[in-house]
Amino acid sequence: MAVTRFAPSPTGYLHIGGARTALFDLLWARKTGGSFILRIEDTDRSRNSLTAAKQVMDDLRWLGIQWDQGPEVGGPAEPYYQSQRLDIYNRYIEQLLAADKAYYCFDTADELDQMRKKAAEKKQNFVYPRPSKFPDSADVEKAKAAGRDVMVRFCMPDEEVIVDDVVRGQVKFGGKDISDFIILKSDGFPTYHFACVIDDELMGITHVIRGQEHLMNTPGHIALQKALGFKTPVYAHMSITVSEGGGKMSKRDRAKVLKDAIKKTEGLDKEKLASIGGISAEELDKFITGDSMPDNPAVDAMAEFLNVELPEVNIVDFFKSGYLPQALVNFIALLGYSPSLANSPKTRPRLAGEAGPPVAQEILTLQELIDTFDPSRFNKTNSLFDRKKLQAFNMEHMKLLGEDELLSRYKDFLKVVKSPAAGADDALLKRILKASEGARTLADIDHKSRFLFTEDGKIEYNSKDVEKVLLKNNGEGLAMLAELKTLLSLLPVLNEETIEKMLRGLAEEKKVGLGKVAQPLRVAICGTTVSLPIFESIDMLGLDATIRRIERAINQFSGK
Ligand code: GLU
Repeated sequence: MAVTRFAPSPTGYLHIGGARTALFDLLWARKTGGSFILRIEDTDRSRNSLTAAKQVMDDLRWLGIQWDQGPEVGGPAEPYYQSQRLDIYNRYIEQLLAADKAYYCFDTADELDQMRKKAAEKKQNFVYPRPSKFPDSADVEKAKAAGRDVMVRFCMPDEEVIVDDVVRGQVKFGGKDISDFIILKSDGFPTYHFACVIDDELMGITHVIRGQEHLMNTPGHIALQKALGFKTPVYAHMSITVSEGGGKMSKRDRAKVLKDAIKKTEGLDKEKLASIGGISAEELDKFITGDSMPDNPAVDAMAEFLNVELPEVNIVDFFKSGYLPQALVNFIALLGYSPSLANSPKTRPRLAGEAGPPVAQEILTLQELIDTFDPSRFNKTNSLFDRKKLQAFNMEHMKLLGEDELLSRYKDFLKVVKSPAAGADDALLKRILKASEGARTLADIDHKSRFLFTEDGKIEYNSKDVEKVLLKNNGEGLAMLAELKTLLSLLPVLNEETIEKMLRGLAEEKKVGLGKVAQPLRVAICGTTVSLPIFESIDMLGLDATIRRIERAINQFSGK
């Protein structure tokens, strides 16, 4: 039975890597009938905030990753915010100090920098010089009176520490290469290392699943556990996911795309852009020259203004790009992990030409991911974030959802992106969803159906499509529109069938493909050649608006 925990340090939105860790915590706990705990590691007062913690919880819930114990849920180890557990940590600090397994220190940041520099000059790894006699309470008073900071360091034992990792096997660390690290900071808060070890024990954590970047922290954590007589949990350090550009998927990737777009925009009104982002013109300049990076909301607002799509890195970015949580969960579960065929509920036969036994089906629901979870299937190698695959997964999961759930997800999405379709009635939205089968994302559906929510006179024509479809060959498309206008107004009833019959009839009469007839119509009513299927589009838009848009296109482009 695994008791797992997701322990974010809330500095902003939930990152895709964090979501993956949380998901595996959940899978492991559910598969073994254990418990999944959410713990907020907010001991860095300058970086962590309550709003960020709430945002992380919203994002987890949106994904369907619900914790059994933690904030807003409660549980036997309350409180679950580390900032509310200081008295607990202090008791253990006292215990270590009393046993001479920890000691006070008073160095300033400058002094430490000097020591590090000296070690670097000698090409040595910096190891904090442990004093031969530990400072006592009189020394602490003296240091305080002199205005120095007071901290506590842990005595790292001079012995080899072996981390027995589920993903990486046995990893050995030499204890003497590891500095006596700080466990209590000068502001009275414990460091992450200390609070994490205490809470893992007190919360009964049996399995710690976390990112590979924490592997080097683990020998220190194990040494602390030994010093305090705690149990050592099972560790699984998961490999990293790299973006298609090769880097770690960080907010820097987003900022970089925005910066490049700003540099490329000609005649940019910098003052306006800065005010859209809620930053000063100076801050914008610093961003452009690479000296600083604005916050997420500023980056998002400026990108929206410039119409630039940024690569998604946080869960909320994926939501705004129109992905379903079910698809995202399925996708992140297969980053650095592969489900086993042996206990997979679904297999697909080999495709023609593929040899061998059936292969595991990759499209899995959360329940199926739980049922098939097998910790021996983690991969050591880094995984690549493949957006095309995510889009394919999203398409499949849209098909798997029932009509009502898809509608409710779509409405949530429309509201968040402030789409003009957000206020539409359910019947129309259901029709749009039905007509959109095969779309990759909710955002695609929204874009392809915006023409239904745009005033006739505000349709923006894509100049390339106008040229290709309406103007080419002496205005062939425009002439077709004139005929279509007459035929449409002659239709006794307007519905998908009568429209289809009329369009096909006209194509046959002219001995051309359906596209030659349908594309001019599409450009006239939508402004582009990318829209929902044409018969449904006209039926949904209605005869009057269709005719008005045809007239507008003819008037605007005739004689061009
Ligand atoms: N608060 C740490 C982080 O967000 C947690 C690491 C751990 O799981 O121990 O990276």
